[in-house]
Amino acid sequence: MASKDPLPFIDLGAQRRRLGPAVHDAVARVLDSGAYILGPEVFELEQALARFCGATECVSCGSGTEALALVLMAKGVRQGDAVFVPSFTFVATAEVVAWLGATPVFVDVDAETFNMDPASLEAAVHHAKATGLSPAGVIPVDLFGQPADYEAIAGIAAAHGVWLMADCAQSFGATRAGRRAGSFGDASATSFFPAKPLGCYGDGGAVTTDDAELAEIMRSLRVHGQGEDKYTNIRIGMNGRMDTVQAAVLLEKLRIFPEELESRAAAARRYSEALGDVVTVPVLAPDATSSWAQYTIRLDGGPARREAVQRACAEAGVPTAIYYPIPLHRQQAYRHYPSVPGGLPVSDSLSAEVLSLPMHAYLDAAAQERVVDAVRAGLRAAN
Ligand SMILES: *Cc1c(COP(=O)(O)O)cnc(C)c1O
Repeated sequence: MASKDPLPFIDLGAQRRRLGPAVHDAVARVLDSGAYILGPEVFELEQALARFCGATECVSCGSGTEALALVLMAKGVRQGDAVFVPSFTFVATAEVVAWLGATPVFVDVDAETFNMDPASLEAAVHHAKATGLSPAGVIPVDLFGQPADYEAIAGIAAAHGVWLMADCAQSFGATRAGRRAGSFGDASATSFFPAKPLGCYGDGGAVTTDDAELAEIMRSLRVHGQGEDKYTNIRIGMNGRMDTVQAAVLLEKLRIFPEELESRAAAARRYSEALGDVVTVPVLAPDATSSWAQYTIRLDGGPARREAVQRACAEAGVPTAIYYPIPLHRQQAYRHYPSVPGGLPVSDSLSAEVLSLPMHAYLDAAAQERVVDAVRAGLRAAN
């Protein structure tokens, strides 16, 4: 690659070259079989995903958003229920709560890990009770690939008698205290959107859980609330199935996923070594690993500094992204929902400071040097 060619933010092309004909052959088998909906690959994938993350049940579905919704529907979430979500996340986490007529309550995050702050959660639960809402559940998000503080959050959830669903759309493959993302809480929802650590070639998602009864309800919900068969409807459901073609793609990608996770971790280490003296680099909890959905640095000192770095990167053909520029408690569609008393200062400051750099399993040291040089050039220009 010539040094002026723009770098990709996520290099799905390199992954395709590595997979070779395997994915094409797998897709061709599905096309020949005619089993496009709930074909055998779907059930094979569910078993493989459950085994991979250490859960007993896996229910695949059409997207990460549907995975979140399936759990909420199976839990019977309804109007008057409060569901606690971080404000510094992708919108889907709060969206599904509002869809079902329940109330998302925004909780602040920890400045180092970007994940739900247990103390803020505790305060938000008390606030919800005081305002007449009925606390029902909490959805920590494993932001940018690092699992949330499940030990602390599970304790708070248990003390208040609410369920705990992990949004591990960004962390599939990560670990905390020796356990994989997908095995925390009552259930975990994940996404296979193409840009996620494990992605398919379209939309896809899954719920993992050890609760067999919950899994049965979700299997019914994803086929219109079916009972014994498709034309017996015992609950209000949806069309929430994963395409067989996407399951076949994921089975092939899952084979190389452990190696990809190692490459991502190596790339993250190289970034942190090269940038740790000039910006705030990501911090992992002592017992956590990340799947590095994003490698996100923090640039304090006002918006002009971040803009200067973005400009220098753009000039050098280095793409950057801001996840997330507006926290959910300030979004037009969500700002009327309650937040923890005292505001969300960490979510607010992170939105002004974060910058995500190119991250994928095929990022080599030479490409990273270009990124690092561009970031450093931007910082010099800002000073
Ligand atoms: C991507 C994402 C989702 C939604 O997944 P889709 O497959 O795009 O519906 C939910 N939560 C988080 C944190 C995400 O990053």
